[in-house]
Amino acid sequence: MRWGLIGASNIAAGHMIGAIRGAGGDIRSVLSSDADRAKAYAAEHGIAHGYADLDAMLAADDLDAVYISTTNEKHFPQAMAAIAAGKHVLCEKPLAMDVADAVTMVRAAEDAGLVFGTNHHLRNAGTHLAIREAVQAGRIGEVLSVRVFHAVYLPQVLQGWRLDNPAAGGGVIPDIVVHDADTVRFHLGEDPVDVVAIDAESGLGKGVEDSCMSVWTMPSGAMVMTHESFTHAHARTGLEIYGTKGAIVARNVMTQAPVGEILLRTDAGEEALPYSDHNLYLRALNLFHAAIQGQGRPAADGIDGIKSLAVAAAVAQAAKTGRRTTVDYGGV
Ligand code: NDP
Repeated sequence: MRWGLIGASNIAAGHMIGAIRGAGGDIRSVLSSDADRAKAYAAEHGIAHGYADLDAMLAADDLDAVYISTTNEKHFPQAMAAIAAGKHVLCEKPLAMDVADAVTMVRAAEDAGLVFGTNHHLRNAGTHLAIREAVQAGRIGEVLSVRVFHAVYLPQVLQGWRLDNPAAGGGVIPDIVVHDADTVRFHLGEDPVDVVAIDAESGLGKGVEDSCMSVWTMPSGAMVMTHESFTHAHARTGLEIYGTKGAIVARNVMTQAPVGEILLRTDAGEEALPYSDHNLYLRALNLFHAAIQGQGRPAADGIDGIKSLAVAAAVAQAAKTGRRTTVDYGGV
C-alpha cells in the first residue's frame, strides 16, 4: 500500500509514520505548505518526496491512500482533492469545520468506491475493547450513566494553533470532545440525542475555549457527563460506566499509549479486567489496509467521524447559547 502524508505534523511523526510502516505501508511522499519544510520532513523520516503542492503530489500517481493530518480547516478541501484523484483517505479528527462538509467528503468517498477512515485512536485501545466487550456482554446490566474524565495539560510542543486560532479549528471542543463522543458511542452503541455544556478559557486559551464540561442524553435514557481540558497538569484521565448490575471504573485510559487500569465492580466484588497492550494506531492501520483489500471496515469510518463531529458541534453550540441543543447528524 503506497501512502502520501498530507501534513508534516507531529501526530504523523510521533505515531502514524511508524504505524503505516508497521502495517506494511510504503510512505512515498509528504505535503507541507512550505517546500523547504516538506523536504526537511521527508529527509528526517526517510520519505522519498516532499511536496508543497497537493495537486502535484496527487498527480504523481504513485499513491493508493493518503493520511490527512493538517490543521482542521484544511481537512475538507484536501480530502475532496484526494478523493477526486481516486485515493483512499484516512483523515484526522475532527473531519471538518462543520458537519455539512464532513458529510460531503464521506459521501464523495462512498460514491467513488473509496475507503474513508477517521483516525479515532481510542476505540483501537485494548482497554476500550475490553470495556466494550464487558458492557456488551451485559456484565454491568443496563447502562445508567457514563462519566468521562479527559482533562489533560496540553504538551508544550502542541501549544500553537489549538490555543489561539479558531480559524484553524483550535479549542478543546474540536480537539477532545470528538474523541469522547466516539468513545461513548463505541461503548454504548447509540448516539447522543441532545447536550448541555459550559466552556471556559482557564489559563492557556487565547480566544478559544481550553476547558469544557457537558452532559448528554442517550436514546436509552442513559446520561453522560464529560470533562475536557488543556490546562489540568495534575488530573488523570478516566472513564466510568455505571449499570444496573455493576460498574466499570477505568483510569488513565483516555490516552494514546496502551496503558491504564480497568476495574469491574459487581455484587460478586471487584476484579481487574485484563486487556491487550497492542499499539492503538497500528491496529487502526491494519484494519484500514484490510478494508482497502475488501475485508471489513476501518476501525472508525466516515460515518463515525461525522457523528463525533456532530456531537462536538452541539456541545460548542450549547456552550455558546446556554441552551440544551439537539445533535444534528446531518442526515446520516
Ligand atoms: P501539528 O501542529 O503538529 O501539525 C499541523 C500543521 O502545522 C502541519 O500540517 C504543519 O503544516 C504545521 N507544523 C507542524 N509543526 C510545524 C513546525 N515545527 N513548523 C512549522 N509548521 C509546523 O498538529 P498535530 O499533529 O498536533 O495535529 C494535526 C491533526 O491531527 C489535527 O487535525 C489534530 O486534531 C489531529 N490529531 C489527532 C490525534 C489522534 O490521536 N487521533 C492526536 C494529535 C492530533 P504543514 O503541513 O503545512 O507543514
